[in-house]
Amino acid sequence: MLKICTDIGGTKTIVGLIDEHLAVIESQKFDTYINDPEAEFSEIMSIANKYKENYKNIDQNTLNIAMPGPCDYTKGLFLNPPNLQDYIGFNAGDYIKQHSEFTPHFVNDTDAAILAEYQYIKSETKDIIYLTISTGIGMAYIRNGQLITGVDGNFGEIGHTIIKNDSNYQCPVCHQFGCVENELSGLAISRKASDILERKVSTREAIDIFMNKADENITRMMDEVLLLTQQLCNNLYNIFNVYHIVLGGGVTQSVLPYKEMIEDYTQKHHLIQKKPFHIKVSDLKVNVLTGLYFVNPQ
Ligand SMILES: [Zn+2]
Repeated sequence: MLKICTDIGGTKTIVGLIDEHLAVIESQKFDTYINDPEAEFSEIMSIANKYKENYKNIDQNTLNIAMPGPCDYTKGLFLNPPNLQDYIGFNAGDYIKQHSEFTPHFVNDTDAAILAEYQYIKSETKDIIYLTISTGIGMAYIRNGQLITGVDGNFGEIGHTIIKNDSNYQCPVCHQFGCVENELSGLAISRKASDILERKVSTREAIDIFMNKADENITRMMDEVLLLTQQLCNNLYNIFNVYHIVLGGGVTQSVLPYKEMIEDYTQKHHLIQKKPFHIKVSDLKVNVLTGLYFVNPQ
């Protein structure tokens, strides 16, 4: 049985047809209508309806959607997405039900991603944390095989918790100083490196300079970023009592030695000393889109 799954991003939207083995059977991508939520969801429904016409073995009513938060995911109501400000107050659930036969289900993108990752680790453990380090930071949690989503689907907004108390960088989103997203994300690495070298430096270039030990100040900055990442993961192991964290997102796909570094730190600092703490760096290409398959298991 195929399911129609949609990943709405701040720049691109992708509507895909996914099978139970997490294969993308067909997909269509378009530029997200950042100023027009009605046009956005009309286009999604139009592509979805074409899939319904063209394929027989398709779950006719299901439309699973990952969208940037914060939203009330129980309704599909946009609350305050930083990159989609014109969507505030738009109820995608009502709109879809008024204009189609679909029954929509909504999650945030990290919740969709962890559902895909879980398929590949569930023979080892039923309890995992998924942490994504890309432009931003997100996390998700599966406990005893079940996705934990929080009261309205916003579980795991760890990006705007404080990791560096003495930071002098104020977050433009939450207005605190030293929140996780601004200290150890890809965007943070690029920002800090650009400040040091007084020119525009991409995340990738900053990591290259660090790995080549080409600039002392970059080394000091990256050492701190990695220490904060180790501390964050140690916090997660402690708070959630899990032994497995899956890391996803662009920055974790770099040459930075996240796995060894975090496992080593946690072995030293976690109070439980005899058990192994596992870091798995994701090797799935499209875990958000494919993970949506498992949002409403039947
Ligand atoms: Zn913040």
